[in-house]
Amino acid sequence: MSNKDVAAALEEIAQLMELSGENPFKIRSYVNGARLVEQLDEDIQGVVMEGRLRELPGIGEALADKIQTLVETGALPFLEELRAQFPDTIQELFQIPNLGPKRIKTLYKELGVDTLAALEEALNAGRIADLKGFGPKMQAKIQEGIEFAHAHAGQYLLIEAEKVVETLIPWLRKEPAVLHIAPAGSYRRSKEVVKDVDLVVASAKPKLVMQRFIEAPGVQRVTNHGDTKSSVVWESGIHVDLRVVSEEAYPYALLHFTGSKEHNVVLRRRAKDRDLKLNEYGLFTDEDKLAPCDDEVDIYKKLGLPYIPPELREDMGEFELEESPELLEMIDIRGVIHSHTTYSDGKDSLAEMVTGAQGRGYEYLHISDHSQSAAYAGGLREADIERQHREIDAINKKLKEFRVIKGIESDIRTDGSLDYEDDILGSFELIVASVHSQLDMTEKEATQRLITAVENPYTHILGHPTGRLLLMRRGFPIQYDKLFDACVANQVAIEINANCRRLDIDWRYIRRGRDKGVLFSIGPDAHRLDALDNMRFGIGIARKGWLEAEHVLNTWKVEDLLAWARKKKP
Ligand SMILES: [Zn+2]
Ligand SMILES: [Zn+2]
Repeated sequence: MSNKDVAAALEEIAQLMELSGENPFKIRSYVNGARLVEQLDEDIQGVVMEGRLRELPGIGEALADKIQTLVETGALPFLEELRAQFPDTIQELFQIPNLGPKRIKTLYKELGVDTLAALEEALNAGRIADLKGFGPKMQAKIQEGIEFAHAHAGQYLLIEAEKVVETLIPWLRKEPAVLHIAPAGSYRRSKEVVKDVDLVVASAKPKLVMQRFIEAPGVQRVTNHGDTKSSVVWESGIHVDLRVVSEEAYPYALLHFTGSKEHNVVLRRRAKDRDLKLNEYGLFTDEDKLAPCDDEVDIYKKLGLPYIPPELREDMGEFELEESPELLEMIDIRGVIHSHTTYSDGKDSLAEMVTGAQGRGYEYLHISDHSQSAAYAGGLREADIERQHREIDAINKKLKEFRVIKGIESDIRTDGSLDYEDDILGSFELIVASVHSQLDMTEKEATQRLITAVENPYTHILGHPTGRLLLMRRGFPIQYDKLFDACVANQVAIEINANCRRLDIDWRYIRRGRDKGVLFSIGPDAHRLDALDNMRFGIGIARKGWLEAEHVLNTWKVEDLLAWARKKKP
């Protein structure tokens, strides 16, 4: 039993307990237990064997008992009993956003709805609106939830693709027959979610490469095993395709399988205009002779184009580029903006976060714990703020080449106001303002709420503007042009939240904002040390939005950043 298996079992217990109307505190303890086990840095099996379960924070006797049984026997009678109360298929209903266990229970008890299909049938028959506690508005929300679930079926967060790539590439490189290897597809293009993972290898001995591929750790099932293409299903459920081509064909195959389809269509048309033919095997003259290219740069050159970085290959204006843009890179980033500590709901202390940021080579760290309205996340009260500022002052006094910046992630209330009095807001050096609750608003209401926050003279950065959670929750609908204009007029930057569940603001709007003069800030929104590395996803999205270093606050020196922030202060 891996930590992940144990966490999944505890999660399922919590869901089923909620369905059967158990005590919320008990349910909470299972939810917390699941999270703890999932994030544990060591193997849960070892912890059980050494009898250290009860030493873990928040693991009481009942929970420790269940974890022990699970780990030792691989099964749990308590879970089996819970499962027996409901049909297995009821799990399908938990995938629908806007539908919680309480409502699932009512749907099951009152209408016998126990599958997704049964739910859709009940919706079509209009039976849901009449249920007590539902009504037409809820019916519409469930309908929307189903559509969302259908639209995102089979998609994965970028981090799931990364796990596959980071396992497979070193694994395959150990096979001497592998000459070149690279990820392709939407992962290489840094899309916010992916359907599958594509890898391209150059080799003269494809059989050896394919054999090693299907034996990789993490492969759950082989669905196709050939010389040029093999496909497997990874343990997370994500599909992985490997193509092996000759060294000669490698750049063309890499280009082709990186896509996007739309980008490739234009490339092929350009080839045709030059009496050439481009496909996954090569770039050919009309006598079917290969026009040899060393790499992708060469192919673009032969098509009369500057090199187009993979993130831009969406046929969204990249063909008008006259030279290859100098997109933002990790090396341009000087500091971390937007991080949490144990003062609110972070897992690591302020001091640990500082050490972590220093160790990663950053020059500054902006601390932005939650504000007082976010009581669920341990939002900071006045006294906490004073204590935190004293701690920051002490650290800054000690450190020479590093600066901790006093900040807050202030909740944006429904009316767009921030949730502290002005004198407290004035005590921070850099303020991120974000929406965390009441996300059910029309486009007009949501835009007005955000613009009011942007117009607040204390706001420096608008955090995760739409509040979306990828594959789980659609964010605010926003009138982007209006929002961008307000940001420029009030000198407020927009965050690219780098948590891979958010990646908010969506990359599709970034370039429009940039062209209007909007500044951006990449926020790892780190709630623990490791999450400082979320920065890489934020950089991918910034690149996808055509950003260069000058458009991004985190590339500035700390003095410049603080001077910019001070200039705004009323
Ligand atoms: Zn937030
Ligand atoms: Zn945050």
